[in-house]
Amino acid sequence: MFMDCGCESSNRLFCFPCLLFAKQNGDSSWVSYGVADLSHLTQKIKKHECSQSHLNSILEFNLLGKVDIRQQLDIAFRSNVKRLNEKVTKNRYVLTKIIDCILFCGAFELALRGHDEREDSLNTGVFRGLINFSIEFDSSL
Ligand SMILES: [Zn+2]
Repeated sequence: MFMDCGCESSNRLFCFPCLLFAKQNGDSSWVSYGVADLSHLTQKIKKHECSQSHLNSILEFNLLGKVDIRQQLDIAFRSNVKRLNEKVTKNRYVLTKIIDCILFCGAFELALRGHDEREDSLNTGVFRGLINFSIEFDSSL
């Protein structure tokens, strides 16, 4: 994509997007001085079109007046970080309750593992019983 513009007083061609958005390291012949020599103009245009500064200027030009996609990505990124932090907080809470149950069993010197820990077992042991007991009082577990 190339949009040239000309200056009547200097009789030179310029690149319009680069005039607007090129940083200091841009192609100075299309931004500062202008192109006066029209021989090999097609090659000069093709070379300029491939330059990094021109591509950045085209990107800035096409985003002008539109919702900035970088800002939208930033919002999505922050939303993901917030969701992750909420999950980490919840997992830490659950882990804290499990550790409390282990400490409780340790304080009374109770075995963590029961004799029969299957789901349908009637006596799964003190630790699993304590975990199940905690779940009944705390719905977030
Ligand atoms: Zn350009």
